[in-house]
Amino acid sequence: MVHLTVDIGGRPGLDCRGFCSYCYFKHVGDIEPFGCKNCLPFIKGCDYCSRGVREQYTGFKDLREVADDVLAQLQIVQGDLDRITISGGGDPSCYPRFEDLVGLLGSMEVPLHIGYTSGKGFDDPALGDFLIENGLTEVSYTIFSSDPRLRAKYMHDPTPEASLAVLERLCAGIDVYAAGVILPGVNDGEDIFRTCEWLESRGAKGLILMRFANQREQGLILGNAPIIAGQRVHSVEEFRDLVTELNDTFSMKISGTPLWDPSIGSPFAILDEPELLATLPRVQKRASVVTGSIAAPFVQRVLDACGNRSRVIPAHSEIACLITIDDLIALRLDDLEDTVILPGRAFVHDTEARETLSADGRTREVVRGPDTLTADAETSMGMERTGVLMMEMEGFGELIRTINKYGR
Ligand code: SF4
Repeated sequence: MVHLTVDIGGRPGLDCRGFCSYCYFKHVGDIEPFGCKNCLPFIKGCDYCSRGVREQYTGFKDLREVADDVLAQLQIVQGDLDRITISGGGDPSCYPRFEDLVGLLGSMEVPLHIGYTSGKGFDDPALGDFLIENGLTEVSYTIFSSDPRLRAKYMHDPTPEASLAVLERLCAGIDVYAAGVILPGVNDGEDIFRTCEWLESRGAKGLILMRFANQREQGLILGNAPIIAGQRVHSVEEFRDLVTELNDTFSMKISGTPLWDPSIGSPFAILDEPELLATLPRVQKRASVVTGSIAAPFVQRVLDACGNRSRVIPAHSEIACLITIDDLIALRLDDLEDTVILPGRAFVHDTEARETLSADGRTREVVRGPDTLTADAETSMGMERTGVLMMEMEGFGELIRTINKYGR
């Protein structure tokens, strides 16, 4: 499969016709780099963890620059292109020369995907036909609500009727995966049922619900919590139950992030597959695996099924990939084995982690585990169960091999 990604640049919020009220990039100030696995041992902060994570682009790229990038990529691509994906920090629908861009890419006659758009920049319903005529075959499109008044109020969409009309046209013609951050008391309850009915009747392939986060431990590591002062947040269980109820009610696929994909049983679908668990390597050494508080009980069960005798340590942060040094500082060192395994993508500088986790005078070895152990809803939306199980087998296989290599 040969894919081409067309990065149009842009800044979240600023190149989205203004921030949506729930945008996680709102109020992000200047913060120190976190450190990550890509950093050099003696320098905390690389391009990824200091700039990329905040999507600090300077603005949309000029169309000419985008076209030059495409040409340069085409020169190194081998084989026939299968897909072109438009992505960026800003919202593609707000790209100033969006129609020229789509016309240019459409002339290559390769299926076109838009990685993500809010549709806030679409002011003319005719754009739906234009996009389909130019080869758009798949889009992830934020609906938030099928009620234009809620789109206007919470997404600050100046033309919500036009954006919904474009979405409606796309649902009828191509693969549309809708998305929406769920604000309790705003677009849950009856509104989310109406939105699901709207999407299903128009032909959407699926809907991903995103649990709203308003506190640091829920994932707001950029120093900008709360995003909406006083806004209630679903508990993980409430949110999972909402996703289950909606998925049971509608025939299109409905899943949620951070939990869960009811039609696949993920994340951690492997827990329902004892025969697969039996084929994973056995855990032979002791090590403390640190992970997010939501995943920890699941990871514990998988490892225990493979002979593990150590405790999986839940960080204060709910999401493993958003663990920072503050989470490690808050751990009780007495609980930790001599080897500590951190999530591959945790935003922690390895040298600082080692010092922090050895602060009680007991030198602990700190190593990185795999980047992913399972598929979140955004990943699993277009996948079959077998693919998710394969991902989990690979992830846990790597984690157990790391325990056995570095553990004591
Ligand atoms: S469209 Fe997405 S990135 Fe842009 S302001 Fe809204 S939530 Fe933020």
